[in-house]
Amino acid sequence: MSSKKSVIICGGGIVGLSCAYYLARDGWSVTVVERNAEGADSCAQGSAGYISPSHVVPLAAPGMVWKGLKWMMSSRSPFYIKPRLNADLMRWGWLFARACTPEHTVRAAPVLRDLSVSGRKLFVELADLTGNAFELKKEGLLNLCKTQECLDHESHGLARLANELGVEAQVLDAKQTAALEPGARMDVAGSVYFPIDAHLSPRKFIPALIGLLQQLGVTFRWSTSVDGWRTEGGRVAAVHTTAGELTADEFVLAAGSWSPDMVKGLEIRLPLQAGKGYSLTIEKPRFQLTKSLILTERRVAATPMGDTLRFGGTMEISGINDRIRSERVQQIIDAVPHYFPDFTAADFAGIKPWYGLRPVTPDGLPYIGRFGRHPNLTAACGHAMLGVTMAPSTGLLVSEVLGGRKPSLSLEMLSPDRYA
Ligand SMILES: Cc1cc2nc3c(=O)[nH]c(=O)nc-3n(C[C@H](O)[C@H](O)[C@H](O)COP(=O)(O)OP(=O)(O)OC[C@H]3O[C@@H](n4cnc5c(N)ncnc54)[C@H](O)[C@@H]3O)c2cc1C
Repeated sequence: MSSKKSVIICGGGIVGLSCAYYLARDGWSVTVVERNAEGADSCAQGSAGYISPSHVVPLAAPGMVWKGLKWMMSSRSPFYIKPRLNADLMRWGWLFARACTPEHTVRAAPVLRDLSVSGRKLFVELADLTGNAFELKKEGLLNLCKTQECLDHESHGLARLANELGVEAQVLDAKQTAALEPGARMDVAGSVYFPIDAHLSPRKFIPALIGLLQQLGVTFRWSTSVDGWRTEGGRVAAVHTTAGELTADEFVLAAGSWSPDMVKGLEIRLPLQAGKGYSLTIEKPRFQLTKSLILTERRVAATPMGDTLRFGGTMEISGINDRIRSERVQQIIDAVPHYFPDFTAADFAGIKPWYGLRPVTPDGLPYIGRFGRHPNLTAACGHAMLGVTMAPSTGLLVSEVLGGRKPSLSLEMLSPDRYA
């Protein structure tokens, strides 16, 4: 019998797979339980693929309550909460509103920065290890501003905060912006450039990571759902799955937007809402970008991935469902020609919109760490808009926690018990 300590990762999205990698590297016997088949879609696959230390402001930021209320009236707004009589949503909304303070931003921003900067460093290591199989590009990110008003707002707000936190941000005029993307005709007042940001092709990253996990001997239980737990003396003894009961020394909750449902049987309440976003990938774009971009006023992301160009965005808190709201997809399509006059709606004709459900916590910080109630269960979920960026740093932290080592970043604000 193996003397290795065993761990079961519940959920095989980018965060679960990253946890599996760092644990297997440390010598754990790792099993990943994923209800979908190998190669199926997950939230990261259609994402914008940003690795974004520049995203230092949490979603729960000052002014968001007012904006959220205003945007609630319009299903075309970038951030939309579908009004519903649902106790979990109401509690989440209340906790979200409570977090929208300047004090919370001051406390949360360095935590987001550290998780993201660490994530970027680890992606560079993974790129070296895989011969850059996932097209990591260290080109930076441009926040394009159509209007001078937006540029002034970004330079006094995000750019100033980022620079204060040591994340370099350069405010550029239209000419300087054009010089950084010479192949694209843009109609903008300027931009904020974050040289540290990077991007990758998520559809290439996931198979590359699975390849590394196979080399490390990780066991995969594809097409297997977690549907319950067995506890003994406060510890989790086993997880019930559609393929039978599985036992291990440790368990990791990495089920993205489904995490609260997964732990309901353990009487754990984890405030988290699914935030739906959409993307559209143009196979043969009119021109190609070199960097990832944000169309700031419209909150739309643009990322070059190989020869293709992906546009994505919107945050729709409407529960877990697979409904594609065409008016929200249209909002992405409508935004593009405002910044890139050479593009028209015809460029998007026939493209099937992709959607993903971001796991959104009320305070914009992920849940990482052990649960007090069941100390051999560790949370790795709730990364919202930064789950790609933070997947490797989360995996590393989880391996440090399970290995009994001092975490390389403080977990104080990330505790899954913070709303218990
Ligand atoms: C449009 C869009 C653009 C984005 N762009 C970026 C970006 O540029 N940069 C960035 O950092 N982040 C981005 N994100 C966010 C990022 O994609 C997510 O935060 C991240 O993918 C979440 O990963 P996860 O592993 O936590 O969740 P998921 O990918 O949702 O994985 C959870 C897994 O758990 C499985 N599961 C659920 N229930 C069960 C069960 N009962 N039993 C077994 N398995 C189960 C699911 O099948 C799923 O595979 C974007 C998201 C969207 C929607």
